[in-house]
Amino acid sequence: MLTVADTLIDKLKAALDEDERIALRAAGFSPTWSYDRETFTIDSAEGSVAARKAGGSPINDVDGEHIARHDPARALRQVAAHRKLLELHPIYSKPKLGFIAAPDRKDPAVMYEQVGVEYMCGKCDQWRHEEFYHPEPWCDTLLALAEVYGIEVPADVR
Ligand SMILES: [Zn+2]
Repeated sequence: MLTVADTLIDKLKAALDEDERIALRAAGFSPTWSYDRETFTIDSAEGSVAARKAGGSPINDVDGEHIARHDPARALRQVAAHRKLLELHPIYSKPKLGFIAAPDRKDPAVMYEQVGVEYMCGKCDQWRHEEFYHPEPWCDTLLALAEVYGIEVPADVR
């Protein structure tokens, strides 16, 4: 069964994979870029690319610096760091048990039945006692990470 946690974590992993794939293709042999205000070019060890608007005019310095600042080298560092965060915040689940109050139960030794699933982040809820399990499949750190990638989190998860 695919849980909400699996779905959101899978989406986050897919976003990281896509960012990495695009950054690697853009990087070629030179992932570090800079912006040249004189030539309006994005420069790397492989050469320069003219940074132009749709009409052919040069982009402004702010846009050029932004493009260079978010070069493939930075994108790859970001992907690596976010993968570390995912590893540092593993989400565990366990069946949520409820007391069976029905007097006509068949086996009197069975006092509990599964009524749902509970989750716990292995990093944020470090003590691993029963009270640290909660109904949300993500911790606040992973929810914040999802925001970076524009992943929608269901309202009832927050
Ligand atoms: Zn966490």
